[in-house]
Amino acid sequence: MIDKKGKIVIENYCIIVKHGDRLIVVKPDPYTYIQASGRSSRLYNGCKTFGLSIVFEKHKELIDILENRLKRLVNFDGFKDLDIEDIQGYIDKIIDTRNKASGNDVRSGISTALIVVESPTKAKIIASMFGKPAKRIFNDIIVYETIIPIDIDRVYVAMITATLGHIVDLVVDEGLYGVKIDHGKYIPIYDFITRCRNCGYQNVGIYDSCPYCNSLNIFVSSSIYNVLKKLALEVDKIFIASDPDTEGEKIAFDIKMLLSPFNRNIYRIEFREVTKKAFLEAIRNPKNINVKRVEAQITRRVADRWIGFEVSLWLQNHFNKPWLGAGRVQTPILIWSVDRYKEYKEKLGYVLKFDLNGYKGRLYLGNDIDREYIEKLMTIINERGFEIDNVKIYEKIVSPPPPYTTDTLLSDASIFFGFTASKAMAIAQSLFELGLITYHRTDSTRVSSTGIAIAKETLSKMGIQQLFIPRSWDMGLKGENAHEAIRPTNPFTSNELIEKVIKGEMGIIANLSGDHVRLYDLIFRRFIASQMSHAKVLYLKAILRVDRYIIDVEAPIEIIEEGFTRVYRIQMFPQLKELLNVKFIKPSSISIVRGSDKGLYRVADLVRMLKENGIGRPSTYAKAIDNNIRHGYMILSKKKIAIPTKLGIEVADIVRKYFDGVVGVNATRDLEKLIDYVEEGQIDIHNAFSRIKDVIDAIQTIFDIQSQASSNISVDLAIA
Ligand SMILES: [Zn+2]
Repeated sequence: MIDKKGKIVIENYCIIVKHGDRLIVVKPDPYTYIQASGRSSRLYNGCKTFGLSIVFEKHKELIDILENRLKRLVNFDGFKDLDIEDIQGYIDKIIDTRNKASGNDVRSGISTALIVVESPTKAKIIASMFGKPAKRIFNDIIVYETIIPIDIDRVYVAMITATLGHIVDLVVDEGLYGVKIDHGKYIPIYDFITRCRNCGYQNVGIYDSCPYCNSLNIFVSSSIYNVLKKLALEVDKIFIASDPDTEGEKIAFDIKMLLSPFNRNIYRIEFREVTKKAFLEAIRNPKNINVKRVEAQITRRVADRWIGFEVSLWLQNHFNKPWLGAGRVQTPILIWSVDRYKEYKEKLGYVLKFDLNGYKGRLYLGNDIDREYIEKLMTIINERGFEIDNVKIYEKIVSPPPPYTTDTLLSDASIFFGFTASKAMAIAQSLFELGLITYHRTDSTRVSSTGIAIAKETLSKMGIQQLFIPRSWDMGLKGENAHEAIRPTNPFTSNELIEKVIKGEMGIIANLSGDHVRLYDLIFRRFIASQMSHAKVLYLKAILRVDRYIIDVEAPIEIIEEGFTRVYRIQMFPQLKELLNVKFIKPSSISIVRGSDKGLYRVADLVRMLKENGIGRPSTYAKAIDNNIRHGYMILSKKKIAIPTKLGIEVADIVRKYFDGVVGVNATRDLEKLIDYVEEGQIDIHNAFSRIKDVIDAIQTIFDIQSQASSNISVDLAIA
């Protein structure tokens, strides 16, 4: 907006003013203001004293911009107009608080804290929530320093740093693949990790150079431990804020074990969104580490290790190919894909693809037809078209889908954007770490009251609050620890988000790529829709006939009541209304191609099947698919269709023949249940280990009889 004086205000960002014959951009600097105004109040003799900062500025708009930006960075109520008569009152108040403060214990309200997270981005985001943090660097490891106000008279002088994921892992060369067995007790042995920055190889143990490529460009996790140890000695309290799931719990447990000799006040804090509100709530209510959850993680790791190593070793010997591998979760995926591929091959014949002005369909013609027949069919369609029968129109109430969980998000990201599961997970991870979405590893559709409030605000901003219907969705889980669906943490559409990032209003310099924005938009729309009223949609149903074939058509043709479709589009096919008025319809295009009755599975289908069969967990879906690709068992087409290779088919067949009772669908599901029982405290971890050990013993009997066994091994993992 240009006002009378020739001033241009760029909303929430800057103003442009005329100065002589030049144009000048003026923009406030909130970071400098925080540092400067902070000096007016003191942590004086133990208390925070009252302080006064006065800002002089002739352009009122700049004050408004500064105010808005400060609100995003710190706890800030806004500027007040200064009345000259009030100044004496302020001065009295300052002197008063300074005098009062002098009598108190110097250290009563201030304590020092170390906050440990997993990722450097998360460390930076948390540190930046409380003003621009100071940075210290210890041997490549960044430690942020900031002041965290917990409540009115309590602050933490906090150091925040990241572990870069797990700090220790199961060793390979002790006991049974890393687990010592001593009189019925199982003792997993862990050590630091060496990661090679050159070849990417990760090895358990401390090395001077990469054991694979000899590169000296390595990272050893003990270097993080050394920094943490030093900081642990400096601080009053340690808070471990690793991700809110079993992997995060194990990281927290390891850090606690490692730092206990140096500091006795170690707590676990957990938050499902990296926002100031969630963080402060967590640090005000620290918890102890959930040991059962840690034991479940260890059980999963050991089960994966034992079963993976044993079955892989057997395969390597059998095929004489030392790179083969099989394992829990990854093998059911391979078996499904191969089964589907075989069905596909068996019924490979011809498919008619047609297009009715944008409505695309396909018809399997069979595998017993010849060229002559195909030509005859084409002639019928071209000259007369499909015969239309049984056309019906009906109204349907369509409810919005629930907000995303990991599996549904991976499916849609694959279908809409062609993202692989691991790509979608990586993008979601960074959206989470940047504080833009809730934790993305979840199998719950639950929506918290915070989430519902975000939806309400969004819809009223859009002027459609009448479509708001609050829904909590999955209430199956209990209490404050309950998981939540994947949702945005702010009422910002993707466009608003981009604008805010550009203007620096998010308090962070976020490098968002187009893919980040697309995934955020998908999550945002799906979530807002889940808090909206249903839609009323008109559907058309008809039968098309051509020669001996029947094609069912059923599609939405018109929206009668918008409801949630206002933000979450459903594709409409109004062109199908034509079927009501004619007896025959000619497709706008047809083609006959080689194809099968059923298509091969897509990544989206495989993820959905994992979830439906209770196999794997949100943290393992992507890795399980990747493992099959890495071993050369399947390839993904451009459209993310899983195509098993010759090797994949051979491995699937042999694994099914001998190991269905170990890595088959049912066995894997039973093992997941066993791990859940450990987490719920229903079974002791040593008992769980000994059941898994039975599986290993059974595999070794196959080794003993030199793969002449014709029967499948099967071990009952189920708990009575
Ligand atoms: Zn290397």
